[in-house]
Amino acid sequence: MKICWFDDNRLGVIAGGQVLDVTGALDALLPLRYPSPWGDPLVRNLPAVRAAIERLQPGAKGVPVDKVRFLSPVASPSKIIGVPVNYPAHVAEAKLDTKTFAQYAGGIEEQGLFLKANSSLVGCSQGVRIRFPERPSHHEIELGIVIGRQGSNISEANAYDHIGGYAIALDMTVRGKEDRSLRKSVDTYSVLGPWLTTADEIPDPQALDFLLSVNGATRQQSNTRNMIMKIRRQIAWASSFYTLYPGDIIMAGTCEGVGPVVPGDMIEASFEGLGSMKVPVS
Ligand code: MN
Repeated sequence: MKICWFDDNRLGVIAGGQVLDVTGALDALLPLRYPSPWGDPLVRNLPAVRAAIERLQPGAKGVPVDKVRFLSPVASPSKIIGVPVNYPAHVAEAKLDTKTFAQYAGGIEEQGLFLKANSSLVGCSQGVRIRFPERPSHHEIELGIVIGRQGSNISEANAYDHIGGYAIALDMTVRGKEDRSLRKSVDTYSVLGPWLTTADEIPDPQALDFLLSVNGATRQQSNTRNMIMKIRRQIAWASSFYTLYPGDIIMAGTCEGVGPVVPGDMIEASFEGLGSMKVPVS
């Protein structure tokens, strides 16, 4: 199932090139508790929401996918986790330019994971707003892994049981010497979209082609099989430090070809099985 938030916080399901409005399925979340547990209520209750969507879908009103504004398909993660230096050819390009890539010493397990502020999260239609035009802001296309089931100290063998779904992620980045958590947490610098594709639709997340272009020119192109640290290890390692909650997002690292964007650019990102999205830069 492909589930989205669109327009004025409507809930949608994608079918036949249309977004079907199934906002009524949110009744499956009631009554909401306060204080609510960490994580995203919809993702935490995904089986009940899916059942409600399936009931509503036959009579739901549809709008073509190119006529809606997509918000982030996860509204309230407890954290956004980033995996650095996870594709060999990206590591190689970074080593050639130590001025731009100031923090690329050592492998992933030496550098550690990083966190991006939740307040940086947007959907594709909301776009990226450049905050420091005098500094380079780079695009990084990544697989967005959305945790579906809470877990701590998860084993690699059980890691996939904790995945709720996937979406295309852009880990937008101001280049410079500050800690990653600051440079990658600018408002709008975490893009997720266009929708959440539930895990059952992606039998092997470690074999997905992806591509990013800017103004029609291809910049990044690879396959998730090229990851240095695989998805199972990412989930196991992350959960050895902190509990993963439903809705938590892991941005699984980018491939070679990162580069600057400026206001007026149009980023297009596509991922096998997850769709494609246009992200305006302003
Ligand atoms: Mn990244």
